[in-house]
Amino acid sequence: MEQAVIKLAIQKKGRLSEKTIELLKNCGIKFISNSSSLKTKAFNFPMEILFLRDDDIPGYVADGVADFGILGMNEIDEKNKDVDVIRKLGFSKCRLSIAVPNAFDYTGINSLEGKKIATSYPTILKKHLEQEGVSAEIHEIGGSVEIAPTIGLTDAICDLVSTGGTLLSNGLKEVEVIYKSESALIGNKNLSQEKKDLLHKWLLRIEAVYKARNNKYILMNVPQHAIKTVTALLPGMKSPTIMPLKEEGWSSVHSVINEDDFWDIIEKVKDAGAEGILVCPIEQMIL
Ligand code: ATP
Ligand code: MG
Repeated sequence: MEQAVIKLAIQKKGRLSEKTIELLKNCGIKFISNSSSLKTKAFNFPMEILFLRDDDIPGYVADGVADFGILGMNEIDEKNKDVDVIRKLGFSKCRLSIAVPNAFDYTGINSLEGKKIATSYPTILKKHLEQEGVSAEIHEIGGSVEIAPTIGLTDAICDLVSTGGTLLSNGLKEVEVIYKSESALIGNKNLSQEKKDLLHKWLLRIEAVYKARNNKYILMNVPQHAIKTVTALLPGMKSPTIMPLKEEGWSSVHSVINEDDFWDIIEKVKDAGAEGILVCPIEQMIL
């Protein structure tokens, strides 16, 4: 029987591409990504990668042309296709916001009543305005939304923002955040068992990559008298590793610690007498 291959649609070129490719490579999936090809096969995992515009990914996944896709939640909710959101991926974070010209006397969302708003996200904007009970005219445009008020097309805009720099340089102020987005993995709703099994295998790798990112491997030299205090502060995967140094009375203590507790723990072990503390990144972490 022919072995199943999963088809993954990713953004060809843009704000998601680099991080998406990095995630696949960190999962140990090797392939050649050059800008001219539309499709490529991984060398060491039964996966075919399709390079597409992000707008087209939800439709292709819903129709089964691709089994999976990686793209922003904003695009997933905007297209509103029948797909499963398998896992949020945490990169390409941004927000969808309403912005108005600096001179606009904005006192709240009701200030938008009867106004024209330009956006590439009519579905999400419409839903939000309905929830707020505001009726405004939505003007859908494909790109360069931020110039719409300057050229007299609309009174306001609703667009993606990450730092706010583009708004500022176009004389606009952000007045409402209506949606927060990050990247996510979506899947077709009717996957065969073989494809589900491959997804499971791939997800194990994704989990390992994300766990590793939040943890650091630390090593330190600890004098005998401080071993008890120091090891009590360190979690480790099971418990810390302790190895004697050549110099009598000292040990090397190794452990894995979470990024959130990192500085707190480092300070405490240092106070307890630990020296020569080394911190290393972890590539994969399988529990
Ligand atoms: P495509 O040619 O694939 O249609 P695009 O122009 O629609 O690309 P990009 O600008 O590359 O899209 O952005 C892709 C996604 O990256 C967005 O849908 C969003 O989820 C995310 N993103 C993160 N930060 C920003 C930002 N500052 N502006 C726009 N999108 C951002
Ligand atoms: Mg797009």
